[in-house]
Amino acid sequence: MSEPVVDGRAGKAKIVICPYCGKAQAMAASCASCAGEFSPLSRQATQNEMGPWFVRDENQPFRPGIAYERLLAMIDESRVTRNTILRGPTTGQLWTVAKRVPCVAHHLGDCHACHAKINPHLTDCPNCRVRFGAWLDRNHLGLPEIRPMPWDPDGVEGD
Ligand SMILES: [Zn+2]
Ligand SMILES: [Zn+2]
Repeated sequence: MSEPVVDGRAGKAKIVICPYCGKAQAMAASCASCAGEFSPLSRQATQNEMGPWFVRDENQPFRPGIAYERLLAMIDESRVTRNTILRGPTTGQLWTVAKRVPCVAHHLGDCHACHAKINPHLTDCPNCRVRFGAWLDRNHLGLPEIRPMPWDPDGVEGD
């Protein structure tokens, strides 16, 4: 065995993969693409904020999912607004607009159920009475159970 090929060119330059956005790059203290620091504490801080919510951002399409608390902070910072596209546990991980997302829309002044305009942060809708709630489980994606497709061998259709 010769020396390990780190970057595919058998060169001397050490290549690292950014743990946050996946960008391959020369060794450095922080990422050339997302500016995330590669230190252990920075990794820990990022993992602490990871969760099952994803905010669509074409400038940073490979960022990890975030925790509900982080999502609410982004609303406070106006980095997530009524028309931001996101997905998470209450959307079954399918992309939709924030003002229609249960557990999120009411913090933006919308009822996800009846679409009424409301004062942000209420616990239930004055119009349709739906309860709003929060999603604090950061390790659960909220995916529905796997259902067989019609063309699967053990699908419901066929016999
Ligand atoms: Zn990065
Ligand atoms: Zn409502």
